[in-house]
Amino acid sequence: MPLLEVKNLKTYFPVKSGVFGRIKEYVYAVDDISFSIKQGETLGLVGESGCGKTTVGRSIAKLYEEASGQIIFDGKNILKLRGKELGKIRRNIGFIFQDPFESLDPRQTVYDILEEPFIIHKIKRKNQRKKEILKLIDKVGMPEEFLSRFPHQFSGGQRQRIAIARAIALKPKFIICDEPVSALDVSIQSQILNLLLNLGKEMSLTLLFISHALPVVRHISDYTAVMYLGKIVEITDSDQIATSSVHPYTKALISAAPLLSFTQKKERIILKGEVPSPINPPTGCRFHTRCPNVMEICKRIEPKLKPVSQTVKHLAACHLI
Ligand code: SF4
Repeated sequence: MPLLEVKNLKTYFPVKSGVFGRIKEYVYAVDDISFSIKQGETLGLVGESGCGKTTVGRSIAKLYEEASGQIIFDGKNILKLRGKELGKIRRNIGFIFQDPFESLDPRQTVYDILEEPFIIHKIKRKNQRKKEILKLIDKVGMPEEFLSRFPHQFSGGQRQRIAIARAIALKPKFIICDEPVSALDVSIQSQILNLLLNLGKEMSLTLLFISHALPVVRHISDYTAVMYLGKIVEITDSDQIATSSVHPYTKALISAAPLLSFTQKKERIILKGEVPSPINPPTGCRFHTRCPNVMEICKRIEPKLKPVSQTVKHLAACHLI
């Protein structure tokens, strides 16, 4: 049974106007997507900015009331939970944000930052908490003396290590990593990715890894889902995405990351135009306004995710298939 099953998730944000604040239209940030992640697996969610990938992560953490559909975590539908039941589930979900400087309180020492989750969830006595905090700082490869320092005294990579320590403090089953390395220098990115990989194995963590960079996603994820304008357009294992993708949008993303695969042709696919607005997405296939393979049917009929292969789990939404 998967640890996380997302079924028909829709997150539409109302756009209000006028003195009475009437709803004028909606931003279709996430529009009817489904996927699942088994215990111990990592799913990478990739796409350009504005495709809805961050909204998916935040909807799973129940940060948006607007989310509908089903998000079944450990057998329970998160969207139906309130109060204590929701609190219990949240203990099992960690979150790592893109910018650790914004997510860490500048007035707190590292010790206070790491102690906070235990205090909020009323876990352990003071001396037990101290033991756990010492273990945590060691796990993320930082010395004990850093516990008395403040976030501004660290580099971006060190701050992200502190954010990771906080995310794993309560030994969650599942962590949502939202662009955790995109604000870091390339040389530091691989250190943080390897730390996440090692912790994932050691703690048998399940990860949702959100990124705009396919090579990064391939490095860390077992499976990859490609999003475009609120929809998943292709999903399969990460090697299959890099070597045998079929959706024109995935191919364009791969062509923009030429080191991703040595087997695919490195011919660059330049997409024309901008990503359309999620307030008024195109009819039919949402990618049709930019697709180099567009056909008449694409403008009218929305393609559904269909199996591409008989042998591996590989789905894509395109009329070419
Ligand atoms: Fe391109 Fe048509 Fe496939 Fe959409 S359905 S990706 S427009 S070929």
